Amino acid sequence: SLPFDHVTIAVFGASGDLAKKMTYPAIYSLVANGMLDVNKLHVVGTARSSYEGSEFQDKIKKGLKEKKDAKASISDFISRCSYVSLKGYEDTESYSKLDAAIRKLEPEGKKSLRLFYIALPPSAFEDVSGNIKKKCWPEGQTNRLIVEKPYGKDEASAKKLSKHLESLFSEDELYRIDHYLGKDTVKTILPLRFGGNPHLSSTWSREHVSAVTINFKEEFGAEGRGGYFDEFGMIRDVMQNHLMQWIVLLGMEPPKSLSADDIHEAKLKFISDCKPIVPEDVLVAQYEASKSDKEKKAYKDDETVKNDSKAATFATAVMYVNNERWRGVPFVIRAGKALDETRAEVTLHYKTPAKALFPTATPSTFTVRDHPEKSHTLTLSTKQVGEGFSIVSAPLVVDFDHASPSASVKASYVPSAYETLIFEAITGDHTWFIPRAEAEAGWRVWDKAISGTENRTPFAYEYGGQGPKEEKEFLKQRAHDVHFETGEAVTEDF
Ligand code: NAP
Repeated sequence: SLPFDHVTIAVFGASGDLAKKMTYPAIYSLVANGMLDVNKLHVVGTARSSYEGSEFQDKIKKGLKEKKDAKASISDFISRCSYVSLKGYEDTESYSKLDAAIRKLEPEGKKSLRLFYIALPPSAFEDVSGNIKKKCWPEGQTNRLIVEKPYGKDEASAKKLSKHLESLFSEDELYRIDHYLGKDTVKTILPLRFGGNPHLSSTWSREHVSAVTINFKEEFGAEGRGGYFDEFGMIRDVMQNHLMQWIVLLGMEPPKSLSADDIHEAKLKFISDCKPIVPEDVLVAQYEASKSDKEKKAYKDDETVKNDSKAATFATAVMYVNNERWRGVPFVIRAGKALDETRAEVTLHYKTPAKALFPTATPSTFTVRDHPEKSHTLTLSTKQVGEGFSIVSAPLVVDFDHASPSASVKASYVPSAYETLIFEAITGDHTWFIPRAEAEAGWRVWDKAISGTENRTPFAYEYGGQGPKEEKEFLKQRAHDVHFETGEAVTEDF
């Protein structure tokens, strides 16, 4: 049970996309699965928009799905959700109103937690956090703040934001969220490497690995989110944060223990060993209209995008790590919108043995996939069954999504990434959040790659295709063993 008699989650930006799509569904799922007691919880949404009557609750309801055997129904949950409209994010008086609304909900004389979740564009971060501290942060009780991405635009702005937050809150009160750290497929790297798999962990280095790749593909464009995206671009939006987190866990040395501090220390050490990515090792591209589907317009034809935008909707970057384990191994980080499929996976490409008895054998790969399914796949070179001596590559697969319920790899309750992280913030576990030093160091690796390519004219590729044709040559010169194979197209968002 939780160390609190009552929890209030205050969602800033409750009128927005993330709140409806992720935050409220995640909180409801925690309630439905019995992780949070609906009778000890209130969720107060807040933003500038105003809603009449039950308009806000109705909007939130649309994002929720009834669950079988739920510990609380959607209407039980919705009855604990309210909304406070702010005049403006800078308007201090609005925060007094919000504080009074929360105070009314908190049982007197009991141990209460206030968890503030800022899901707002970055321009509002400073005003909001300052006013929360001034008006909604009662002394003598536990208050915490979740800060969404983007954490600055570069190292300098991240440091500025840190300084501002540091002047208001202790590091213990802050939870910098990267939802990739709530994903099982990202966390699973630790037991894979440092659990009982010496055959994997001992080969996880430059002795045996020729390249590491991350392949992140979305089959949808920036439709509607062009305003935010145009300013940030693909590298800042997913590569510098989400994909980098995956790489860090994959590349770091074993932490001394599984404590938050030791994991954070090991992660920071690895990031410090990453060489800043140079612009010459970055390819950027932007999608053009589909030739076959009129609905799939060019990035620049989106109403929310500037006509002369050079924003990258696709990028491939090659990073090197300056330590004993990884020296010389290219880490190829690739992400694109408006491609032929949606996919997210990280792969270790093994070297071909120098004097291969079987020269036609394909080198082995090990893939951790988050999408289209959650899985681990080790490809093995083996002999085709039957006559002759044909060497084939065959996959050994652990498929977490399709494993039967009794299989030990699948728990009966599989929380979403946001669910996991919101719950951990409530329990006060910082392990899978990002400490200040790490948030800043992450930018140091990417700053040159971004500033050196921002004004470059991006290559073009077709909406629904496989990315720019120039990527092949780019990769050949930097990581010649790497081929990005495409699988079957999937249609769902993730
Ligand atoms: P959003 O819908 O664009 O914005 C959330 C709310 O912020 C809006 O409803 C609006 O509320 C307010 N707002 C919009 N523009 C503003 C401006 N210029 N100044 C002040 N307030 C403004 O954003 P979102 O997609 O929900 O994302 C919120 C945060 O989560 C962002 O930091 C984003 O990077 C992060 N995030 C989003 C996603 C996603 O899938 N959407 C995923 C990961 C992280 P009012 O007008 O009612 O005040």
